[in-house]
Amino acid sequence: MLSNLQARDAATVLHPYTNLAALPQQGSLILERGDGVFVYDVEGKPYIEGMAGLWCNALGHGREELVEAASEQMRRLPFAHLFTGKSHDPAIALAEKLKELAPGNAAKAFFCNSGSEANDTQVKLVWYVNNALGRPQKKKIISRIKAYHGVTVASASLTGLPNNHIDFDLPLPQVRHAGCPHHYRFALEGETEEEFASRLAAELDAMIQAEGPDTVAAFIAEPVMGAGGVIVPPRTYFEKIQPVLEKYDVMLIADEVICGFGRLGEWFGSTALGMKPDTMSVAKQLSSSYLPIAAVIIPNWIDEALNRQSEKIGVFGHGFTYSGHPVAAAVALKTLEIYERENILGHVREVMPHFQQRLRAFGDHPMVGEARGMGLVGAVDLVADKASKRPFDAKRFAAAKVVALAQEEGLIVRAIGDAVSICPPLVITEEEIDQLFDRLGRALDRAESWAA
Ligand code: PLP
Repeated sequence: MLSNLQARDAATVLHPYTNLAALPQQGSLILERGDGVFVYDVEGKPYIEGMAGLWCNALGHGREELVEAASEQMRRLPFAHLFTGKSHDPAIALAEKLKELAPGNAAKAFFCNSGSEANDTQVKLVWYVNNALGRPQKKKIISRIKAYHGVTVASASLTGLPNNHIDFDLPLPQVRHAGCPHHYRFALEGETEEEFASRLAAELDAMIQAEGPDTVAAFIAEPVMGAGGVIVPPRTYFEKIQPVLEKYDVMLIADEVICGFGRLGEWFGSTALGMKPDTMSVAKQLSSSYLPIAAVIIPNWIDEALNRQSEKIGVFGHGFTYSGHPVAAAVALKTLEIYERENILGHVREVMPHFQQRLRAFGDHPMVGEARGMGLVGAVDLVADKASKRPFDAKRFAAAKVVALAQEEGLIVRAIGDAVSICPPLVITEEEIDQLFDRLGRALDRAESWAA
């Protein structure tokens, strides 16, 4: 029986990533407030936010400083844009800060409102810049199976998940998907992580050869794949992939939308994984998601090519009304200040071994085929049979069952295919990590009798 609010919700809100047909029976979990790593539903029941919202609310709830940064900026200048040679202090200061933090030769930041917009911008920049460089045939972008890069037309094409393509008439014809670097699921019998990485690099090389190297412009990768099921690449993966890209002059785009700003214990996941990207997309933890803001960080050579195009065309014809919105930029700046002042990276490094140890202990659970992760993100992969790695019948929605049981236990986690993913706020304490995994453990134990 739905509550009044649930019934109104089901009647009027078109929900993203939801089984729309099932929602009117199940009803939404309606949240009202948050405090630290906890959120509370309208009945006052607390939950550990084991997903930091959508991999984004790094500082947890109730940070007055962020509220103040927003209200101060709203009072001073609630809106200003960056079009036609206009600017404002929060955007300038944030671009400077991103340039300072980013590894490599970052030159400038282009602001967007979401990860999808950032990755759409990446695609457009690749095309535009290759036209500027006089190689209009070099346009294809290689992503990977199970990658998640967003849902707008170009970024959904980069995403390597069937649900984002089926019946949406995607992907775009310029996009290809290389093999997924998930050792547990895709390695051959007896293949080591290093051998698997070598094979993936050889397959990428063959794919670029088959497409024609002069037609392949870019390769996009999350350092650790998030919404595809938290997939940590096999050892030596990027070490082997990058020389292939260099050989064919294919640029590397790092999608740092989840990994950026401390998730893996470094400012950027690229550093943690040994990636040397040409450009990066950042979002989510950039503002701890108190307000939407994202950015594409570009190096000098792209900036110079864009300048040359402006000389030719007269304008860089791309931008959003809310690119670098002053209130969002002010909140992002304050977020980055808090990360530094409170040494959030140091905290992540301190608690992540405990997080990983508790997570990986689920590898012994009868329902879990693999417990994997890195830093403060992880997943447990559910299997009907551990020895053969046989998954549950998809129609049983095993991961969704575990997520529903976890919710009863006061924990929010997320089902992704057969995986249950966990990605708490970066500020989570060891004690809260214990509470999180105790609750997940109870949910898994209860699911075991359901599965039997
Ligand atoms: N890239 C990655 C790695 C993501 O995880 C996401 C969202 O989860 C996106 C891009 C898309 O971001 P948004 O939902 O803000 O458009």
